[in-house]
Amino acid sequence: MTQLPEKQSSTREESRPQLVFGERWVYEPAPQSLADVPAREKYDLFINGKWAAPKGRKHFDSVNPATEQVIARVAQAGKADVDAAVKAARVAQTKVWGPMAPRDRARYVFRIARLIQERSRELACLESLDGGKPIRESRDVDVPLAAGHFFYHAGWADKLHLAFPGSKPSPVGVVGQIIPWNFPLLMAAWKLAPALACGNTVVLKPAETTSLTALHLAQILEQAELPPGVVNIVTGDGRTGGALVEHPDLDKLAFTGSTAVGQSIQRSLAGSGKDLTLELGGKAAHIVFDDAALDQAVEGIVKGIFFNQGHVCCAGSRLLVQESIHDALLDKLLARIERIRVGDPLDKNTDMGAINSSEQLQRIEALVEAGVAEGCTLHQSTCTLPNKGYWFRPSVFSGVSLSHRIAREEIFGPVLSVMTFRTPAEAVEKANNTAYGLSAGIWTDKGSRILWMAERMRAGVVWNNTFNQFDPASPFGGFKESGFGREGGRQGLEAYLRFHDDTLVQG
Ligand code: NAD
Repeated sequence: MTQLPEKQSSTREESRPQLVFGERWVYEPAPQSLADVPAREKYDLFINGKWAAPKGRKHFDSVNPATEQVIARVAQAGKADVDAAVKAARVAQTKVWGPMAPRDRARYVFRIARLIQERSRELACLESLDGGKPIRESRDVDVPLAAGHFFYHAGWADKLHLAFPGSKPSPVGVVGQIIPWNFPLLMAAWKLAPALACGNTVVLKPAETTSLTALHLAQILEQAELPPGVVNIVTGDGRTGGALVEHPDLDKLAFTGSTAVGQSIQRSLAGSGKDLTLELGGKAAHIVFDDAALDQAVEGIVKGIFFNQGHVCCAGSRLLVQESIHDALLDKLLARIERIRVGDPLDKNTDMGAINSSEQLQRIEALVEAGVAEGCTLHQSTCTLPNKGYWFRPSVFSGVSLSHRIAREEIFGPVLSVMTFRTPAEAVEKANNTAYGLSAGIWTDKGSRILWMAERMRAGVVWNNTFNQFDPASPFGGFKESGFGREGGRQGLEAYLRFHDDTLVQG
């Protein structure tokens, strides 16, 4: 890890009493068994219901970020492979999936949900092995929510006319979908489930560092006997994504990832007639008022930025705290981060796992160095980090102002920036003072204040006295540079449908 400069203290920091941390609890290891997880050494592409070697004959390593060991070799799809996948999707859409009775499509989507549940242990283990996130999160959040999205959308498949009364919805057609590495299986489910339920066929490209669960999902699609070509999975890096974006026979592209890549996709699709939805970055703020239940708020803040290594688009990476409780909250927070268990993602006691890749670790380190150079005070957990792999300590910056880079740029790592406010109006102004607008959290005892604040927040989701809660029935998406379009809920279906009259009421 990069050596960070010595901690700098402001006058206020010096006058505060030294925190005395209790002894850290030591837990016996509780390793998740990998027996019976049927990982392959090499994965090809899933095109037209068959496994096909990439035409360029190239595979790349997928690495376990906690150990730096190669887990498997994954195919690098080129233009010709992407073209074969789009052609297969077009035939499947026009001949099989589009004309199929909606109730039959619903059965397939329901069957996929059941198979995800049946193979949940395998999927959770692979997700943690390939991506570095704690098994507790893969097992209790990612996999159940992925199954939940297929269940939810199976229910809509034959009721689309009821979702949009008075309109005649039809599928968009062939959809390209590109997803990031932070929730590999869940993002695949968010994209595939509504697309399939609405009668579209898909070419999906997972992120290059975390392709394995999408490829095991392809095995599940085979097991569900989904007709060939309905879902095609092409693995590879940004070049594969670029080939998909540029393919002339797509009707729609759905992208989740960084704002920079999303904006470049938007530019290249301008004027092409293709539909586009973008789910991009975030810089969410927690706003904690002096009447909030502080211990509950601390748990929500810690869960929202550290338990997932900060690898969440809607991670609460900014903390706006009412001035009168700043010191009390900071003390509680620093005591709490000292007790976060950082380490082996496959240990069931682990709270915080490995950073997903060495590139991401370098990005986090560079921004943290910028924060120190700009004069903010860095507090880090003193936990012991493993010798191998990509790791970063839970980190809190105090003395931050809105102009600092750490308060403005998405860090996508376990780093929290603390700022203060005096009045609700100032809190709103500071929380909205960002290029992003994905989510926010409000912590207060007063219901009326929650409603007052929520109305004024420019964020797609506002959580109250909780954080990072997801439900397939609840739409998720951003304002401003966090993108456009919604995923989940009735609103999420709209992105995969065309309407043949003007009676649709948006909502
Ligand atoms: P990224 O933009 O680097 O990559 C995302 C995907 O795009 C990957 O599959 C990648 O291979 C592909 N890609 C890269 N360059 C491309 C190009 N030129 N053309 C087409 N495809 C290309 O993002 P990332 O680092 O994988 O993911 C982290 C980002 O994703 C963060 O900014 C995070 O906030 C965002 N995210 C947003 C949401 C949301 O719902 N809003 C959810 C998860 C992640």
